[in-house]
Amino acid sequence: MGPQAFVSRRVVTPQGIRPAAVLVEGDRIRAVISPSEIPAGTPREDFVDAAILPGLVDSHVHINEPGRTEWEGFSTATRAAAAGGYTMIVDMPLNSIPSTTRVSALEAKRASAAGRCSVDWAAWGGIVQGNHQELEPLARAGVRGFKCFLVDPGVEEFTPVGEPDLRQALPSLVRTGLPLLVHAELPGPIDFATRHLEAENWSQYQAYLRSRPDEAELAAIHLMLSLGREYGFRLHIVHLATASAFGCLQTARAEGLRVTVETCPHYLHFAAESIPRGATQFKCAPPVRCQVNREALWRGLKDGIIDMVVTDHSPCPPSMKRTPEGDFRSAWGGMASLSMALPVMWTEAVARGFTLANIAEWMSAQPAKLAGCDARKGRIAEGYDADLAVFDAEAEFTVTESSLHHRHPLSPYLGERLRGVVKRTYLRGRLVFREGGFSQEAAGREFRS
Ligand SMILES: [Zn+2]
Repeated sequence: MGPQAFVSRRVVTPQGIRPAAVLVEGDRIRAVISPSEIPAGTPREDFVDAAILPGLVDSHVHINEPGRTEWEGFSTATRAAAAGGYTMIVDMPLNSIPSTTRVSALEAKRASAAGRCSVDWAAWGGIVQGNHQELEPLARAGVRGFKCFLVDPGVEEFTPVGEPDLRQALPSLVRTGLPLLVHAELPGPIDFATRHLEAENWSQYQAYLRSRPDEAELAAIHLMLSLGREYGFRLHIVHLATASAFGCLQTARAEGLRVTVETCPHYLHFAAESIPRGATQFKCAPPVRCQVNREALWRGLKDGIIDMVVTDHSPCPPSMKRTPEGDFRSAWGGMASLSMALPVMWTEAVARGFTLANIAEWMSAQPAKLAGCDARKGRIAEGYDADLAVFDAEAEFTVTESSLHHRHPLSPYLGERLRGVVKRTYLRGRLVFREGGFSQEAAGREFRS
């Protein structure tokens, strides 16, 4: 492929948003130049006022393959990602069978993914009870880091870990130099709260919300920070839902602890007060909390307490959402949002005075850094992979089933009016998504450094 130029009045670069041409040669960005500097004879695509963002990176996706392909899979998840402006996703180690807790499971995942992906991908490994000896082999085999649960994740093959298990695993983790991603909720406060809710009507969202109190997150974060002080590993808190943890996170950072934090579009968009009775498509863990908390999370992003926004895309078959009876207790928790995350975030961000530069930092640069792929992904800059999302920031649309591209068109965003449309997605210079359609070529591959 010869060089080509992608032009826009709004190219989102690390130096700011400006009129520019992104000169692409092969897989990589050769230069970011002024449109007047495009070499004569170079084919050009001018997107005029539509912005060019760095391809988004989602470091929190449940692809569920192999083993639970009736929930989701590499083909559908990576298509949904491409439609959402993502060019790389990192798969969580659970919900697939086997879980990615040993090298043979990683190899099984690679076999499932081969030749079927629309965007690039990589894998997190899992820390479960008793697999501490697998961590270093998994790191050598190419996982980007490790994930653990402190509370039951809802699938029996991925066991939650307690402090003794962590103490057994952390020395190996430290030797890998990779981050530990933690689902930070402790079972104690959840069990205590739930005991007092037996007689509640569980078709009410409030019953579920009260069963997973802020204290469960807070206690888990306290535990992880104290282990962080003792062992000195890179700690990452996944899907922070409570703003009440800001104080201890700030204190830990001031002490020099290496801790990063993510939240998700649903915590920044929805509020518990407006979740309808029986609407189990809104169930996730930790839960969507109140409106006051939502606004505090936005302040956390502004102040840099929260580093990034990732989807926690976690679909399941419609039957598992228990939609006829609307029971929040037995419904599967998890939201599917890969195709919608950018418009959801932009709709909310622009209303609060943020820019596309903020979006690029939260949804591309920072997740790329977490996953250790920031030397090639997450920025529009010379030498980086030519991963680009063309985004019409002014267009509006209503979310319908045809706007979703994951396996089952179930999502809490259905019917919402959102701002911003992904027009095209380029993966390493190749057009993988255009105006609702996909390239035939499965150009995605595993990211290996
Ligand atoms: Zn998750």
